[in-house]
Amino acid sequence: MTEKWIVGVDLGGTTTKLAFINTYGEIIHKWEISTDKEEDGKYIVINIAKAIDQKLQELDLTKDKLIGIGMGAPGPVDTKTGVIYNAVNLGWNTHFPLRDMLEVETSLQAVIDNDANCAALGEMWKGAGNGAKDLVCITLGTGVGGGVIANGQIVQGVSGAAGEIGHITSVPVNGARCNCGKTGCLETIASATGIVRIASNMLENNTSSGELMGIYQKEGHVSAKNVFDAARNGDKIANSVIEEVSFYLGLALANIANTLNPEKMVLGGGVSKAGQILLNPIKENFGKYSFPRVKESTEIAIATLGNDAGVIGAAWLIKNNISK
Ligand SMILES: [Zn+2]
Repeated sequence: MTEKWIVGVDLGGTTTKLAFINTYGEIIHKWEISTDKEEDGKYIVINIAKAIDQKLQELDLTKDKLIGIGMGAPGPVDTKTGVIYNAVNLGWNTHFPLRDMLEVETSLQAVIDNDANCAALGEMWKGAGNGAKDLVCITLGTGVGGGVIANGQIVQGVSGAAGEIGHITSVPVNGARCNCGKTGCLETIASATGIVRIASNMLENNTSSGELMGIYQKEGHVSAKNVFDAARNGDKIANSVIEEVSFYLGLALANIANTLNPEKMVLGGGVSKAGQILLNPIKENFGKYSFPRVKESTEIAIATLGNDAGVIGAAWLIKNNISK
């Protein structure tokens, strides 16, 4: 029998990542197209369908090579109806029937889920999760995303909003404003933007010199990467920023683990590339605030799939569907 492929799609506000993936989770071909948000996002799905047809043509293959299309989308998804809510950054109205549109335009079976959930499924299947069926994935990027997997299934909650780890209230009083409308969310601290905000506050109110202060005075701003690089060189202010970030992250992770006791908690996204300089103090705080039996059994690890987690997890949606 010839090998069949699944289309994995990671739909982003700027670019859409596509991949042909076999049923073992191996990427055969991957490519990107830009996301065309013109005219209320009406071209997004059509462009994806066209991109698939073009790629098949290039490879001299026909559509019967493909089993289905899985997609991670940026917004809360009702997985029963295949509707995505509040994807305003894509130009879509409050209720957009994404799954049905995909099926109509591609003539393939479609399954959709939230993008952070897909990243979690990708890491479970082929990444740091290494097959762990109880896993929590936290994506530390421009924002903070979360996906909770219990017994191999994404926890959706009553309205698809489970796993919003970025919006755990970390600072209940006088916290910074979050994009969600609340204040003091974990995202205002542990995202790249949060780290820059904390660093800028500390630098403004500090008179000491050092590597990070030097960059701040020269450029007028610092990046999250500047903070981690300077911390590695022993910069005091940079280390204070990491101390604050890792305290809130360690505390939040401990409380999630105290509730779920997952096998693994996987940290992904650009900020996780900081590596040990961030991971070690997070683990320390995690140890302080987790229930003893949880501390012994829940492992914290860095994600391994990088940008591929989304498309691999999206392909898993189809793989999981056909094996039912
Ligand atoms: Zn929030």
